Amino acid sequence: MGEASVRPRAAVVVTGSELLTGAISDRNGPWVARELGGLGFEVSHVLVVGDRPDDLAAALRFAADAGAALVVTSGGLGPTADDLTAEVVAGFAGVPLELDEPMRAHIAAILAAWAARTGFDGPALEEANRKQAMVPRGAVALAPVGTAPGLVVRTAGPLVVVLPGPPRELQGMWPAALASEPLAELLAGVPRAASRSLRYFGLPESEIAATLRELDVRDVEVTTCLRRSELEVDLRPRPGAEDTAAALASELAQRHARHLVSADGAGTDELVAAGLLAKGATVATGESCTGGMLASRLVDRAGSSAYVAGGVVAYSNEAKTALLDVPAELIAAHGAVSPEVARALADGARKRFGADVGIGITGVAGPDGGTAAKPVGYVCFCVTTGDGLVLARDPQLPGGRADVRERATDVGMHLLLRAVRG
Ligand code: ATP
Ligand code: MG
Repeated sequence: MGEASVRPRAAVVVTGSELLTGAISDRNGPWVARELGGLGFEVSHVLVVGDRPDDLAAALRFAADAGAALVVTSGGLGPTADDLTAEVVAGFAGVPLELDEPMRAHIAAILAAWAARTGFDGPALEEANRKQAMVPRGAVALAPVGTAPGLVVRTAGPLVVVLPGPPRELQGMWPAALASEPLAELLAGVPRAASRSLRYFGLPESEIAATLRELDVRDVEVTTCLRRSELEVDLRPRPGAEDTAAALASELAQRHARHLVSADGAGTDELVAAGLLAKGATVATGESCTGGMLASRLVDRAGSSAYVAGGVVAYSNEAKTALLDVPAELIAAHGAVSPEVARALADGARKRFGADVGIGITGVAGPDGGTAAKPVGYVCFCVTTGDGLVLARDPQLPGGRADVRERATDVGMHLLLRAVRG
């Protein structure tokens, strides 16, 4: 909001032709962008280019022209002919590539261990070793996580940090890049981003937009993003506007309190886990249309065995009756997709697993099976607890089969949050 940010800008240049064919999707651009944002940069661009030197050089110039103080590249550091990043970055910096002898020896040792394991040895490996140890003059070389070293290269324009393509290697090298002298020096001048994030459930983006218009926000950049049915609102103050952001955060939290999940960025899954742990309670699921997706969400987190008792996917009517004690007459009277059956699934799961909290989900995922009274997307939820709490919902969820099942899982998690919050 307001005028241009005074935050220093940074750009990410992701290389790899396989990213342009759609063969794989980019995991490095978003990861690095998030890190850079957290460090206080304004990320101006994430550019994806193929393994073509001219395109990579053009991307570096573009980032420089856009005012980036820092450019982070990923990929193209390997031993093959299409791995050209070091060479192109050296050209961009206007310095020659030189053999870094200690780095050559370091890589040789890594390669020797690899050769001993695989039996691939000889001149090809020697050549690969040499190529990967070529470093632009004056650059800081970062120790390989795989076999390729990273680089931190000063130029007349932006500082360029060159990282390997495999995400595990890139992320593994990031701390060393941050600690390198040129980047540490640059970071010392970057004001930390005291960003805040609020999360809402069931609140349309337009409501936040209306509130922001009314409050006439200045000096705080506000971004909203819908993820897993949660509206995430991020507030990034310009340097010096931290108090404005804090005041805005509490105003937003108050105005939309009914839908607020958290005012500190914590998500529903995290809060459900923490809530169950704090109560020393366990949860059990009785799922139909979500087919175990809710149980899977619940066990996503390490340590979930402390609060997840178990779950049953009871898809057929017979399974609902046999495994979760849903009376056949109840199903006959109300239909398998009904608030009554959702409640019976919750009670059944809770009792069968001896859990404190039970949740039942049954719905019409589609594309077939909808009726006028119970159309595709109609899903019934119920959470029951040992001490008599009953929380029920039966919304009409939008979208196709996959959307309905995913959203139903989100709603289920959210209902659990309501239950553990009491
Ligand atoms: P290597 O020594 O492994 O060749 P490199 O630095 O040359 O390392 P690339 O050749 O660009 O890296 O990529 C190697 C592999 O890493 C790719 O085939 C791909 O599987 C994975 N990879 C590279 N870049 C990305 C990315 N942006 N997102 C996800 N995976 C990636
Ligand atoms: Mg490669």
